[in-house]
Amino acid sequence: GAGVQAQPQRPGQGLQESRPLSQAEVQKQSIQEVRRSLPVFPYREDLLLAIQQHQILVIEGETGSGKTTQIPQFLMESGYNDGGMKIGCTQPRRVAAMSVAARVAQEVGVKLGNEVGYSIRFEDCTSERTVLKYMTDGMLLREFLTEPDLASYSVVIIDEAHERTLHTDILFGLIKDIARFRPDLKVLVASATLDTERFSCFFDDAPVFRIPGRRFPVDIFYTKAPEADYLEACVVSVLQIHVTQPPGDCLVFLTGQEEIETCCELLQERCRRLGSKISELLVLPIYANLPSDMQAKIFSPTPPGSRKVVVATNIAETSLTIDGIIYVIDPGFCKQKSYNARTGMESLIVTPCSRASANQRAGRAGRVAAGKCFRLYTAWAFKHEMEESTVPEIQRTNLGNVVLLLKSLGINDLIHFDFMDPPPHETLVLALEQLYALGALNHLGELTKLGRRMAELPVDPMLSKMILASEQYKCSEEVLTIAAMLSVNNSIFYRPKDKVVHADNARQNFVVPGGDHMVLLNVYTQFWVIFIWHQLGYSTQWCYENFIQFRSMKRARDVREQLEGLMDRIEVEVCSSGGDIVPIRKAVTAGYFYHTARLSKGGFKTVKHQQTVYVHPNSSLFEEQPRWLIYHELVFTTKEFMRQVWHQY
Ligand code: ADP
Ligand code: MG
Repeated sequence: GAGVQAQPQRPGQGLQESRPLSQAEVQKQSIQEVRRSLPVFPYREDLLLAIQQHQILVIEGETGSGKTTQIPQFLMESGYNDGGMKIGCTQPRRVAAMSVAARVAQEVGVKLGNEVGYSIRFEDCTSERTVLKYMTDGMLLREFLTEPDLASYSVVIIDEAHERTLHTDILFGLIKDIARFRPDLKVLVASATLDTERFSCFFDDAPVFRIPGRRFPVDIFYTKAPEADYLEACVVSVLQIHVTQPPGDCLVFLTGQEEIETCCELLQERCRRLGSKISELLVLPIYANLPSDMQAKIFSPTPPGSRKVVVATNIAETSLTIDGIIYVIDPGFCKQKSYNARTGMESLIVTPCSRASANQRAGRAGRVAAGKCFRLYTAWAFKHEMEESTVPEIQRTNLGNVVLLLKSLGINDLIHFDFMDPPPHETLVLALEQLYALGALNHLGELTKLGRRMAELPVDPMLSKMILASEQYKCSEEVLTIAAMLSVNNSIFYRPKDKVVHADNARQNFVVPGGDHMVLLNVYTQFWVIFIWHQLGYSTQWCYENFIQFRSMKRARDVREQLEGLMDRIEVEVCSSGGDIVPIRKAVTAGYFYHTARLSKGGFKTVKHQQTVYVHPNSSLFEEQPRWLIYHELVFTTKEFMRQVWHQY
């Protein structure tokens, strides 16, 4: 039964015999056979019985055992969706929600968006018929606004619970609460083999169902000295593996899109140079903004005689399992949000990952056969420089968004909210203060009418304030575009390593007075004129020539449409300032006045906390150095940089 740990199977002699299945072999296995081969399959009946007997169940299983794709199907097969009830399954990452939903729709044999669908911010791929809904944890949180008891759900699965994202942590508290007065609701908390006792404890000693995993041994190698340039070290390691090691795919962990793209370009370039001297190396990226057809590629089987290398963010740590990985390259870094509760400043920082993360990463090499993990750091660094585990997001992020949402749900006493790990007191106070300053809360800490409308928009409070302020200043057309462009995550401009000068010149052509927000508005406006009046081929060509990412533009368009739809719901009239920049400036300032900085001795000082910050080199105002600025966000790379800045006079 459950809870019995199976002995890991030892592979045969040498790697040769434990190689992953070839494409032909894989194709022979029908989807059903694959399903039956997953570790969770033998536990189907035990699991369903345990779910029947307990309202809340914690499920622990090795990554790749079939928790995310199979358990919801078991529930469907045994009628948990009867009477039009839904089964919901949350994922911390949007890519995971999309990819898993696509896979499950295929396994069930339905079109994605019909019985099986997904819902992520700015993209709803569900319908009236959807009974199994994968979604980001943030989306389920927003559903509380329209359905506070989640009445349409019979089962809610909080998946990847060990990730401890902010939204997952808040869901824990809310769901524990509604479970008390909805005895018919089943709650499953699914996690990799980490922390499960804590989940059980939080949910009033809910039982833990353990799915014994299979894991082959993984040899771990460290570098003798620290690597100066881990990106270059990754490229070299991949090529070394490719020419010296037996067959088997390779997985590289990097911290974000930019790094991943650079790494892929370098790998492709060096393979080209080596030409026919080496066998084929398929280089595939995976990160949050990758379009779904490209995402699907990482799962297709590797043709015989070649090797696949997947270059991924943390997403491949536990959320997505790629079959056939034998080699893992781990530089030991991840991009993390960090929050200074004293200054209220949030930034994204590349930091060493935790030992728990490093071990999960290494584990990816041992799923189908004995594997190898190359850590691009020293054994000493692993022992002494890495934290034991990752700090839950709730303790290192701005809580403005969540506080606004909880207030809209009528939860006023945030100090006594049932947090698994409470956020620092100062962080809560700061969020309240900021919402008060934005006008979302009154002096009693109660939600204002503005705050209620702000909560309707699925964006951060400052951005929603900017959007709502555009109503008053009569420039919502422009501000919606700016908001949409800001939401596509700095992926508008393409800047390949070998064409930096061309790319920067192309960007220069879009520069208009005001600052980066106006540049974004300009790009969007020009692009859509071309897109609407010319053929598709011409607009992709135009993007290519101007070093603009076509996909990001389309995404910005989608986001804008969604926001415009929401404006309708909160009854904001959409109108244009007719080329006048002043109203736009006012709306941006109404939202981002907290982010004001003033020129001082070569750099800038933030007005609120006198912190030294710099204009990002990619900004249109990098040369100009105006006296006053408003910035959209701070990123920390070599210095504390302001990204997307706006000129204040
Ligand atoms: P867990 O949630 O326990 O980590 P999953 O249910 O995600 O496990 O994975 C089970 C299996 O399904 C894995 O072998 C994985 O490779 C496969 N799988 C998941 N998503 C996809 C996909 N989009 N395409 C192909 N295979 C997939
Ligand atoms: Mg999973």
